[in-house]
Amino acid sequence: MTNSSTSDDITSTMRTTRSRNSFVVHVHVHVPPEPEDTEDPILENNVPTYEIVASRSQPRVYGKLCIEVKPADSDTVEKWPIEAFVDEDGDFTDETVCKWVNDWNDKARKAPFAPRKCLFCNRKAKLGVTLCGHCENAGWRDIVYG
Ligand SMILES: [Zn+2]
Repeated sequence: MTNSSTSDDITSTMRTTRSRNSFVVHVHVHVPPEPEDTEDPILENNVPTYEIVASRSQPRVYGKLCIEVKPADSDTVEKWPIEAFVDEDGDFTDETVCKWVNDWNDKARKAPFAPRKCLFCNRKAKLGVTLCGHCENAGWRDIVYG
């Protein structure tokens, strides 16, 4: 320790004292209220961190159908395969995607002979359904038509 800053210390002490006497400093600390999303914890866990980009036709990447998605933390639209929206129990995790799949199933049923591709690969879909035989055998039919 040196004594080189002694005068500064005194000055700052005086300043502090004066300001303490002349006005009261209100410190507003804004504490955000605790989120009370406890009524439906299951729903809370599923809060999407992305946004489905609605479009008339979904793109295919290497022949594979993809859903366009905008992650919450970026402005870049990404293309996710349908599998990305199916959880380990075989349930759709996204209402929009689920709705689209139902629409596609419906169209396939109504126009069974219209050429269409499988939802999960580049193969031709079977008549009246949205899946090829291969993906159907792989268990996707229960999910897509669940
Ligand atoms: Zn397929």
